[in-house]
Amino acid sequence: MVQIVDRAINRIGPVFIAIALVLLAMCVFCYYLVVFPYTHRWSDAGFLGKIYIATMLAWSAYMVYCIFFHYYMAIVTSPGNVLDRPGMDPRLRADESDPAIAESHQQEDTETSIREVLLELEEYSVYPKTCKKCHLPKPERAHHCSICNSCVLKFDHHCPWIHNCVGHNNHRYFVLFMTYLVVSATYFALAAWRPFIIALDFINTEWPYYYPRPLVAFSYILAICMGVAIAALCAWHYYLLLTGQTTVEFYNNQYEKGLHKTQGEIFVNMYDFGVKENFKIFFNISDKNPWYSVLIPVPVPPKGSGRIFEKCQEFSLLPTNRQHQYFQVQAEYSDIEDGVKDV
Ligand SMILES: [Zn+2]
Ligand SMILES: [Zn+2]
Repeated sequence: MVQIVDRAINRIGPVFIAIALVLLAMCVFCYYLVVFPYTHRWSDAGFLGKIYIATMLAWSAYMVYCIFFHYYMAIVTSPGNVLDRPGMDPRLRADESDPAIAESHQQEDTETSIREVLLELEEYSVYPKTCKKCHLPKPERAHHCSICNSCVLKFDHHCPWIHNCVGHNNHRYFVLFMTYLVVSATYFALAAWRPFIIALDFINTEWPYYYPRPLVAFSYILAICMGVAIAALCAWHYYLLLTGQTTVEFYNNQYEKGLHKTQGEIFVNMYDFGVKENFKIFFNISDKNPWYSVLIPVPVPPKGSGRIFEKCQEFSLLPTNRQHQYFQVQAEYSDIEDGVKDV
């Protein structure tokens, strides 16, 4: 039954994306065809007014571009697979003319990748686990997604609205998409309330716009409802990223915190480096990618390979046997979440 539901979610994924695009496009058209002409009158504006209008036009176009860019990147970026190697996109080899050669290349790639992953994990003294569903090495923070049927690096959750998992490689795009969407929806709600009221007044007012009144009303209500819902989700993701957790880790950490408390111990989240550092790690802010890179809609890869993660100092200071206990507990949770019963 669960498998049927997972398969159905996978199949109808593109439909969710199409719905999201239609709804987004409705609000964008509503803004440019009604709200912008209503709130910015070019013919009445003086010189400074015209500069202001041009600036607002450029700013709104930038926000729209940021929304669609990050949405597109969240959809097309692979969240991260255990066998991914830097510089090698398996999809690039899929179109090799001879299927037999292509298959043998893929097999070679897979074998080499497994060896490399195991060596990498061994080098960092993290005992490699094997996923009991896809039978591949399973690094720390990876989880098996039953909808995508593969192990995803630094798995957060499967999102039907992007028809993809949110994981190591695309979590940044997912969060930035929500951020730009929430800022834009807030601005839209503030700027469009008068056109919304006028659109509702069918009897007394004229309607000189090309966009139908019912769609303006619908777009406005939609922007508020979606804005509030996504703002809540966005705030939740900022809380998680600033505390160095993923969605699945949060629930385990909460449980572990309680357990440690009853035993008179303090729980240490090994991936929590403090708010500022967590922010820099999540958005991969470095000399190469300064802080304002979050404001520029360009592809930015995540920090690290996604198979091994640095641990905070507090964790490194724990005795070795306690560190092992943490890894053991993490591995057990990982199996439970993946629906593997024989732990
Ligand atoms: Zn797996
Ligand atoms: Zn998935």
